[in-house]
Amino acid sequence: MPMDELAVLRVLDVRGTVEAAIDAMADDRRAEVLRTRLGLDGSPSATLDDIGKRLGVTRERVRQLEQKAIAEMVRLVPSVPGGTVVNAAVRAFVRPGEDGADARAVDAVRALRLPWSPAVAAKVVIALAGRKRSSRPAARTTPDEGPSLYDVVTAQFGGVVVTGQHKRFERTGWFAVDPVVVGCPECGGSVHPFRRPYLDSNGKAFRHWALVCLACRKAWAPSDLSPENRRLL
Ligand SMILES: [Zn+2]
Repeated sequence: MPMDELAVLRVLDVRGTVEAAIDAMADDRRAEVLRTRLGLDGSPSATLDDIGKRLGVTRERVRQLEQKAIAEMVRLVPSVPGGTVVNAAVRAFVRPGEDGADARAVDAVRALRLPWSPAVAAKVVIALAGRKRSSRPAARTTPDEGPSLYDVVTAQFGGVVVTGQHKRFERTGWFAVDPVVVGCPECGGSVHPFRRPYLDSNGKAFRHWALVCLACRKAWAPSDLSPENRRLL
């Protein structure tokens, strides 16, 4: 199970991002269809038939409007603050084009407790993840896309400048993991762990660690820690 990816999604504001993108939509009718279908005003999701009757159009027409609304919302997500990170994190979790991608979208809706109509919410999450990119291997083993360490730390803690002396900290594909109690080698502040999966030249899977200190804003590798602290990882 891609638990790291789910942990990233949980610290991001997926709901707020989608709702802000819907608010930014230019076409009021499409925005209204999507709001009503998701049940954003707290009332139960309206059926295609109900909306059709209200707008005086066919059920099929409402379905098309919903589709266009979701596509327009997805196009607007990168312009919402934090939207690019949400996009990358949803993509990393759903892994479009792989077996079970649709089921993972449903899992995401459930795990994030999105208070929307589950069926429509799953469509939104699948659309956010986007289509499979041609001949790109799974993000889980060769994470040359996805959030950078800076993106993940900023999304989780807000405005943190990550400085690091290790080249790998600049690569993408980082995920937050559960906190461990380890002191920063420089200031003794508490560091937060992040991981990045990678494959060595023999195709064996490993994980890089980054330990980011929120006090002095530096990123450390396990080799930078004292032996006692390293054992706590
Ligand atoms: Zn520090």
